Amino acid sequence: MTVKLDDVEVLSDVSATGKERPWRDKKGRTMKMAEAFQLAGLEGKAARMASCGNVLIFNVMELGYHLALAQFCQVRLCPMCTWRRSLKIANQNRQIVELANERQKLRWIFLTLTIRNVEGKELKQTIDHMMKSWDRFRGYKSVQNAVVGWFRGLEITRNTKVKSKSFGTYHPHFHVLIAVRPSFFTHGYIKQSEWADMWQKALQVDYTPITHVEVVKARRTKKNLMEIATEVQNAISEQKAIFEVSKYPVKDDDIIKDFNSKDTPEVVRTLDTALNRKRLIAYGGILKDIKKELGLSDVEGDSADLVHIDESKDDVAEEVEKVTAYWHYGLKEYVISR
Ligand SMILES: [Zn+2]
Repeated sequence: MTVKLDDVEVLSDVSATGKERPWRDKKGRTMKMAEAFQLAGLEGKAARMASCGNVLIFNVMELGYHLALAQFCQVRLCPMCTWRRSLKIANQNRQIVELANERQKLRWIFLTLTIRNVEGKELKQTIDHMMKSWDRFRGYKSVQNAVVGWFRGLEITRNTKVKSKSFGTYHPHFHVLIAVRPSFFTHGYIKQSEWADMWQKALQVDYTPITHVEVVKARRTKKNLMEIATEVQNAISEQKAIFEVSKYPVKDDDIIKDFNSKDTPEVVRTLDTALNRKRLIAYGGILKDIKKELGLSDVEGDSADLVHIDESKDDVAEEVEKVTAYWHYGLKEYVISR
């Protein structure tokens, strides 16, 4: 029997801001990634990934659908799980940053700490080395004096430009969101070159690693009409920094873009080995304390809840209408059954 698209209802999950949530795109990418895992000889994970998010059960709420039940595979490189995890980290970070801002006057700094590109065979040990280097870095006196809280995430990109000299190499780097007191800008200020010098010392390398520093625009507490526009802009700038820092951890484009390449199985094995069961995000100082206080869950464990993104909202779901969407392998669409 063939199914015509006209005969079925396709999932449309629109957020409160009017944006279609990218379920179909993510599931499509996950199916491709599962194929890549299969080619890499990682059959178990390929199978888990292929069934990731096959069935989605939503509560129908006034403001749209809320995911109520689904099975996610938790494989580090799964595009579906990466999307869910990044959303959840961003959501937790937003709550943490908001509460921190409520409690004391803070300024936020967005730091990117890098290391020279490495070959695949060096990736795992390079990541371990970076983790240790971060611990040295945050222990330095001037860092300790300036930083009252931090969030650190790891991102890995891969050079996929065939003509580039460093084609195929990996670029692991840290995105760090740092909270400082406003007085940081007048007492104990750390310049870009000083951040870079300290990161070089922590990394124990003989070159200056590329280090970006960006001060997130300040939010104001006092508001008049003229200031509201600026305030909105600055809130957006803070949101952007939070999203940037919450990315987790590999763009699937870096693997899937050259899906047909002979390198793909090796790339998959390299990244899978380097990231397997590894904790890639960490909190410190007041951000760690607030995360604990808010009771925010662990996003990286094997049993991480990737269904409920916003833990501050709890659906009372008994009486609520439900909608079930199934992934249709032939149509490559989520199909609704009521
Ligand atoms: Zn998954």
